[in-house]
Amino acid sequence: MKVNIGVEIGAKLIQAGIVDKYGRLIARSKIQSNYERGLKEIVAEAVKLIYDLLEDRDYELRNIKSIGVACPGVPDEENSKIVKTYVLGLYNAPIKDEFKKHFPHTPIYVENDAHCAAIAESAAGAAEDLDYSLTINVGTGISGGVIIDNRLYTGMNNAGAVLGHMVIDKNGKQCSCGRIGCFETVCSARALIEETRAAAMNNPDSKILEVCENDLSKITETTAYEAMELGDEEAKAIFDRYVENMAIALANFANILMPEVIVICGGITNLGEDLLRPVRDKMEDWIYSRETTLPMLKLSEMGSASVLVGAGMLAEYKRK
Ligand SMILES: [Zn+2]
Repeated sequence: MKVNIGVEIGAKLIQAGIVDKYGRLIARSKIQSNYERGLKEIVAEAVKLIYDLLEDRDYELRNIKSIGVACPGVPDEENSKIVKTYVLGLYNAPIKDEFKKHFPHTPIYVENDAHCAAIAESAAGAAEDLDYSLTINVGTGISGGVIIDNRLYTGMNNAGAVLGHMVIDKNGKQCSCGRIGCFETVCSARALIEETRAAAMNNPDSKILEVCENDLSKITETTAYEAMELGDEEAKAIFDRYVENMAIALANFANILMPEVIVICGGITNLGEDLLRPVRDKMEDWIYSRETTLPMLKLSEMGSASVLVGAGMLAEYKRK
């Protein structure tokens, strides 16, 4: 049987996996990333991971249909370079060419890592069997991907579907992208944690301090919710604002794309339905037509394998 290879080049790990045509991860291996290394060395490490996996599982190179590489940043028009990323110094890095040197006869695809996570949810996760889906990853920033008719949508020059940088508050906070008030400035894990920490620092009676056991470094994206549950008014205001901003952003996406499902990933999803329910309710206020059926909101089902699996499915989702 033919299989695909997925490679994930991340800030902390380089991973490779064998992925079957249904999006199932058959085998996986990983090593630590290292900021000292250049692109050549990073790719050489990935190539070694791939060959070890193949040998382990008794596959030969002719069994490999394609290799998909996921990486932070935006690929260029030809999907051969990753431009605009600062992770591992991969600025303007010709990733595809470098892999081609090692696998001259195998199709190579390169794509943004969050886009790959969206593919994985569509292929084998929370959006399986649905043609239109949107996946939002709530991490330090916010990223995500759009699947239209079972294909990854990236727009002109692959520069679209940058979901975390939709401006929703032009009078808001400065964003990592240099602009003001992007979705990620109000709904990333970092934004929520910073706001929770500030509230705890300003009020010695805050229940937030109780939840984090007086250690501000223990505050996570679920702390405000937990303090709210203990009756803390300010924590409730923080959580309500978070929910409202999330609902505004998701309703905006829904108004434009109307996916069948919006999948949410990241630490905030530890709240489960306690997050989804209020966001769903608030979305009703911001959706264009009240007669419209809202997209389903679901939690990610792919976990830590999502980017790797999505990379392995790139050939299917980028096919014209
Ligand atoms: Zn931004």
